[in-house]
Amino acid sequence: MNKYHNYLLNDLSSDRETLVELLTSQDPILRETLFDKAVMARNLHAGNKIYFRGLIEYSNKCNKDCKYCGIRVDNTTTTRYTMTDNEVIEAARFAWNNHLGSVVIQSGERSDKAFITKITSLLEKIREATNDELKVTLSCGEQTEETFRTWFKAGGSRYLLRIETSNSGLFETLHPTDGKHLFKTRLRALESLKKTGYQTGTGVMIGLPGQTAEMLAMDLTFFKNFNVDMVGMGPYLETEGSDMNDAVNQWNQAERLELSLRMIAVLRLLMKDINIAASTALQVIDPEARIAAIHCGANVLMPNITPLQYRESYQLYDNKPGLTMDGAQNVHYWEEQIKHTGCLPAWDEAGDPLHYYNRTRKHESELIQ
Ligand code: SAH
Ligand code: SF4
Repeated sequence: MNKYHNYLLNDLSSDRETLVELLTSQDPILRETLFDKAVMARNLHAGNKIYFRGLIEYSNKCNKDCKYCGIRVDNTTTTRYTMTDNEVIEAARFAWNNHLGSVVIQSGERSDKAFITKITSLLEKIREATNDELKVTLSCGEQTEETFRTWFKAGGSRYLLRIETSNSGLFETLHPTDGKHLFKTRLRALESLKKTGYQTGTGVMIGLPGQTAEMLAMDLTFFKNFNVDMVGMGPYLETEGSDMNDAVNQWNQAERLELSLRMIAVLRLLMKDINIAASTALQVIDPEARIAAIHCGANVLMPNITPLQYRESYQLYDNKPGLTMDGAQNVHYWEEQIKHTGCLPAWDEAGDPLHYYNRTRKHESELIQ
């Protein structure tokens, strides 16, 4: 037992100073204790199962121009694609047949009527093709509350929309000042998602140019105050197609990876019953990093099940892994990897975040009083 045990075991204080220390301390014993306690907290409050979401990268057509992103509209070197209905249904059926329990449909952001109708019909078709047993998460950017409601009714039950950074000043440096990339719009979209009834997920990029450890600590506080159900966060990575490669970054890649693992562990201690993903971006820095994230309290993995011919074109960042591993190989790979983590793969389970039920039940009991 070392001096840090009690400090981390009791309800972790979310004051900024404590959080910054946990994110940056050079003390190896503090680091090890943090990771151990995060794993204990996950096992106790969320379980020791790893939930799968088959990732379907539906389309790289995007109307936004987020400076950091490889598929932003102004990057003319990208070959644009949209999967056919059949390809999407086949991917969903693959996930269902291979016991993944759920899928994520991720896409560049479009808000035209044709896109909204298409996603609605894909949701309906997936329900039909998988006996209404496959849970679908959407990650298709900012939409109006009406669109969120339409997709919710059609069968989308979870939504991932990263805040990217909870610091509005930093957010502004990452996006064009054209009125279409506003921090307050992002925030409002997240609020609409919750109001609509989605299991709501958000997240940030870690190690951005201009980002400080204090800002990351505030991101953790943001997740807690916003009462999110799921978080997916990972290191910021350079990409050739981006519009910010001239920006000086004070974080090297090893530091971004370390910060990412610590963010996961501290968040697990702050929000014990949420779902936390071991994001794909981690793996770009270190092939073992997604498993390392499980050793820090993560409980969700997203094997890529996008048809191979599209993988190259969905490069949010450079050196994205898994360009050649098809869905079946990917599932098998993760099954083998999980064996070494002390966790169990959650086959055929939707893997709803317990936090969602805890917060909505609490809300209901408050309404009754
Ligand atoms: N268009 C949707 C979904 C696709 S982008 C949306 O923006 O929500 C999904 C996530 O990829 C973004 O939220 C962002 O956090 C991440 N991303 C984009 N470019 C990145 C980069 N260069 N490094 C790390 N993550 C990146
Ligand atoms: Fe489009 Fe999402 Fe990339 Fe922004 S982050 S450019 S919305 S795909």
